[in-house]
Amino acid sequence: MSNTSVHKGACFCGAVELTVTGEPVAMGYCHCDSCRAWSAGPVNAFTLLPPAAVRVTKGADKIGSYQKTEKSIRKWCKACGGHLLTEHPLWGVTDVYAAVIPDLPYKPAVHVNYASTVLRMKDGLPKQKDFPAEMGGSGTLLQE
Ligand SMILES: [Zn+2]
Ligand SMILES: [Zn+2]
Repeated sequence: MSNTSVHKGACFCGAVELTVTGEPVAMGYCHCDSCRAWSAGPVNAFTLLPPAAVRVTKGADKIGSYQKTEKSIRKWCKACGGHLLTEHPLWGVTDVYAAVIPDLPYKPAVHVNYASTVLRMKDGLPKQKDFPAEMGGSGTLLQE
């Protein structure tokens, strides 16, 4: 574990700071309706980490939380509205959005929920119709 790296992240205004430690479990893009509505963007670039790898180092009292479904607890900064992360308790991972941790090299490997896409991305990466089978999805791949 000598090369364990720590990467710093922050919200839009800087009131909330966090760190992520070690290597992400997975990185990629989610094209689902929920990510679109929450982010107000066409896709969510996700970085999945073990929850224990994510530490809020400043401004924990400024973090708002919203849980629409049992799958996702979404968190943001109440001072600036900037989004921070989504906890996925059923999967045992936390998505710290790639844009929140810019110094962690983003290496996307997969697209999920591509059946719902509004922005086709022809990058040669696998396009899961919903989720990989090991995450409880169909594992079906779609054309780009
Ligand atoms: Zn903020
Ligand atoms: Zn999504």
